[in-house]
Parts: sequence; structure tokens; C-alpha cells
Amino acid sequence: MSAINSSSDPKVGIVSLGCPKALVDSERIITQLRTEGYQVVPEYADANVVIVNTCGFIDSAVEESLDAIGEAMAENGKVVVTGCLGKRADVISERFPDVLSISGPQDYESVMTAVHAQVPPKHDPFIDLVPPQGIKLTPRHYAYLKISEGCNHRCSFCIIPSMRGNLRSRPVNDVLAEAERLVRSGVQELLVISQDTSAYGVDTRYAQYPWKGRQVATRMIDLVRELGELDAWVRLHYVYPYPHVDQIIPMMAEGKVLPYLDIPFQHASPKVLKAMKRPAHAEKVIDRIKNWRKQCPDLTIRSTFIVGFPGETEDDFQMLLDFLTETELDRVGCFTYSPVEGATANQLANPVPEDVAQNRFDRFMTLQAEISARRLSAKVGRVEEVLIDEIDEDGALGRSRGDAPEIDGVVRVNDGHDLKPGQRVQVLIEASDNYDLAGRLSA
Ligand code: SF4
Repeated sequence: MSAINSSSDPKVGIVSLGCPKALVDSERIITQLRTEGYQVVPEYADANVVIVNTCGFIDSAVEESLDAIGEAMAENGKVVVTGCLGKRADVISERFPDVLSISGPQDYESVMTAVHAQVPPKHDPFIDLVPPQGIKLTPRHYAYLKISEGCNHRCSFCIIPSMRGNLRSRPVNDVLAEAERLVRSGVQELLVISQDTSAYGVDTRYAQYPWKGRQVATRMIDLVRELGELDAWVRLHYVYPYPHVDQIIPMMAEGKVLPYLDIPFQHASPKVLKAMKRPAHAEKVIDRIKNWRKQCPDLTIRSTFIVGFPGETEDDFQMLLDFLTETELDRVGCFTYSPVEGATANQLANPVPEDVAQNRFDRFMTLQAEISARRLSAKVGRVEEVLIDEIDEDGALGRSRGDAPEIDGVVRVNDGHDLKPGQRVQVLIEASDNYDLAGRLSA
């Protein structure tokens, strides 16, 4: 029996909130805990101490984080708080003066120090039983690959740079070694994340590192080219439409990386984008998208938008609807603007009344549902590669190359009862609705 699972091991509970980047932080913390012989347990009552990894991006996330801390305090009472909201320690300590420690994102050391103080690690001769790829919170067949931390932009609605600091890119050989380890351990899909993937390496002046006998630059295009050599799906998130993104499209057309771009456009009106201080807002996006699709017709574009930003007029909003109609983005998320404490956008004039913002949100989503349904219906009759996520009584559920886990749609494989999670199969698409596809295994 592995000493790692002995009942006398010190036990830690972890609650992980927020975005994929926070999830990666939680994975690192769990890996460290397991390395030191701690057991990670799902029940508050079994834990000697509970770590709450918080999110502080928007006010609803702050509330969710505070609720999670409150629940952990009530159920366990020994609570270590970390993550984005940790940067606003006063908010936490005002409400919960008895938490054991508060630290910001990536401050693994503070978290471990607080855990050690509460429950010391058990000396364990089997510590290297931790698998070399670390412990992952995502299912075994996909994994997030965090390539950098922080952001050099100062979007007026966002407080991430004040919480996470300026861009710091990981050396490219370090990222590639992690990617290779993950793929070797069975990962079928790598999801590349950061705050600004297209800016990867800018802070290091694209420093070169040795990788497999040659020099590779810490730069998005070089990273993507190398990741494309691994036998896994590679999906790019948080890409801004800088001109050099054009160079990635041929690699997508060749099938080296998934034909999928997650670009958070946030708006289409130049006036609103300027007020948001968005990166790359002056690029000729509509023409670029058309050109990308010409080169790579299978390209799926996902994006997020904010409606009701201060100063947004009906004309600005109409411009956004026209942009959607013209670009026919495949996957789109939308939020109504909500002020975030500490964001400079709070000082902007002409806030949009809540009912107007809600009305715009509804109109936006109605139009997008039609677009999404139309684009998905064009896939009926085609054979798509599908990565299986789970099996249930109705068959199997998986995702096509155009679906990122948790945020996009799914593909139901009606005759997929005998499949296994992590398998990649060919599926004949027979039906579609607004967001999802269904079909059967292709002979
Ligand atoms: S690009 Fe803008 S929204 Fe994204 S993390 Fe940086 S400042 Fe925030």
C-alpha cells in the first residue's frame, strides 16, 4: 500500500475557484502537498486544514470567494486563503479575522508555510511516488499549460495586472518539457493559457533556450511550432489579434495545432474599445478574420464580450451586433458590465442603466444563438474528430476540435457506450442545436 494514502497522513482540503490560471496554481499546490506526504481529502470534516484558492476578477467572483471562505471557516475553522483575492487581504480579514494566513496568486511558499504551521508534514520515504507530471485537477486526458503570468496591458475594467503584476514568461524549454511530460503521461489535449498568449516572451526579449539540440525562442510562434510536434491536440486561449497571429493560421490549416482561437474581443466599437484600453484594438479585425477563414476554413473562433460598458451608446451596441453578423464567430460568451473595485473604468462617465445593459445582453445572446446554430448545422453530415470526455447511459460525451472543455459545446456520440475517456474517435455528425452536436461513430 502506498504510504501516500496512509490514514495517519496529515490531511488538507482544497477549494479551487476562478479561472484555469487559478486551477493551475491549485495543481501546483496539490503537487507540493503530495510531494511532502500530505493527503488531499474531499470532506471538510476530514481535513486538518483547508486551503481556499480565491478569485477576485469581478465582484461576483469576490462574493463567491468570500462565501467559500465562510463555508470553510464554518465547516472546518482552519483556513488558509490564497489566490487573486488574497491581494486584497483587508477585505478578507475584515470579514474573517481568524483565517490562518492570506497570500496572493502563485505564492506557493506562503501557502506551504501556513500549512506546515498548522499541521507539519510527515516524513515519508516514498515521497517520489508522486508522478513526474505532478498532480492534475483536470481529467487525465487534458491539461492546462500555463506559459506566463501577469500582463503588460491596463484594460480599464480589469484589476489582474495590479494583482498579478507585469508579464513574466516561462522559458520556452521549461514549458516544452512540461508539455512533453504531460503528453507522455497520457494527456491528449494541451490548453495553452496565460493572460496574453500573443505577448509570450516579450518580457524576455524572446530569449533563446536549447531544446532537442537546437535553439528555440521564447515566442508564441516558436512555442506553437514545437507543441505542434507533440502527439496531442493543442488549443490556444487568450490570443490577441496582433499581426503575428497570422503566422499561426497555416499551422492550423496543416493540422499541427487545433484550428481554434480564443480571442477576447470584448467589443467592436472603436470608441468603447479605446475606453476599455484594449490591446490590438486598432487592428483590422473583420478583414483579418475573413482572411484566416479563407486559409483555414475549419477555424473555430471563440470570444467574449462586455455589453453595457460605461459610455456605450445604442450606436456602439449596434456596431457590436453588426460585427457579430459579419464575422459569424462560432462560440461567444457575453457579460453585462459590472464595476470591479479598484478598476479605472469605475470613474468613466455615462454608466449604462442596468435594464438597458440587460436588454442589450438579451439581444446579443439571441443573435449569437442564431449564428452559432447556423454554423453548427453546417457540420451535419461531416465526419469530425472527437475527444471523449465521459461515458454515460446514453452513450459517450466528447468534444470536437472546435470545443474547449467547460466553456464550449459537446458532441454526443450515441453509440459510444464502449468508448473510454481520452479516446480520439471519428464521428459522423447527424444533428445539431444552438450549441451542441450529436452523431455516431464513423466506420
Ligand atoms: S489583457 Fe486586459 S483584461 Fe486581460 S489580463 Fe491584461 S489587463 Fe486584464
